[in-house]
Amino acid sequence: MIWDTHAHLDDPVYTEDFVAVLERMGSSGISRMTNVGYDLPSSERSVRLAQDYEFIYAAIGIHPHNAAEAKDETWERLLRLAKQPKVVAWGEIGLDYYRDLSPRSIQKEVFIHQIKLANEVGLPIVIHNRDAHQDVLEIVKANPPRCGGVFHCYSGSWEMAKVLLNMGFYLSFAGPVTYKNARHTVEVASHVPLGRILVETDSPYLTPEPRRGKRNEPTYVREIVKKIAEIKNLPFEDIASQTMRNAETIFNTRRKV
Ligand SMILES: [Zn+2]
Repeated sequence: MIWDTHAHLDDPVYTEDFVAVLERMGSSGISRMTNVGYDLPSSERSVRLAQDYEFIYAAIGIHPHNAAEAKDETWERLLRLAKQPKVVAWGEIGLDYYRDLSPRSIQKEVFIHQIKLANEVGLPIVIHNRDAHQDVLEIVKANPPRCGGVFHCYSGSWEMAKVLLNMGFYLSFAGPVTYKNARHTVEVASHVPLGRILVETDSPYLTPEPRRGKRNEPTYVREIVKKIAEIKNLPFEDIASQTMRNAETIFNTRRKV
């Protein structure tokens, strides 16, 4: 039993074989998946998927790429979505200084605003951070999430990880931990306590080895579990069950479902 804690199965690349993707997922032991929104329409699609499929949960929010599009009405609609029973997190939110698709000042403002909204409705946050380590750290220190949070596809240093772990954050690992040049991420993962690790695919992106470069899907989260098992020198099953428990804790599904 594995929980793929971050995927975008509402992406049109799955239109043709969506049912087959879900079937492969089920038959390979991926028993849960969080579908993550990045703007209002994808947040709505995530909620719809969670309503349609028992094993899918939803996260809703505005990605830093889309920060400049957010209006007052966006927040009203997201707040309404947040009340749906299978919405388990607010995200993905954060800062992306790699692609800089929205001005940085707006990215920061929208990130802070969404931490406040998540705190208001009692949801943990899912953070996207690309090349913005210092600013993300400053913002979460000044605006701590009331219900905790996850750093998705963690790419920071161990120094930063220590600060985040002390603040109660979970760190999620994705395809890049399997890449040949991932020495740095492997090193970080080796230090992070197993009780704070989540696994994810970020489908359709970041496909793990040995399929790197092809379309990703939740089934391949097994490669992440396998890699963490290798790094921690523990059985595959131990990593699967502990990361499942971690996801249940941060997404608060024991109480909710
Ligand atoms: Zn994502």
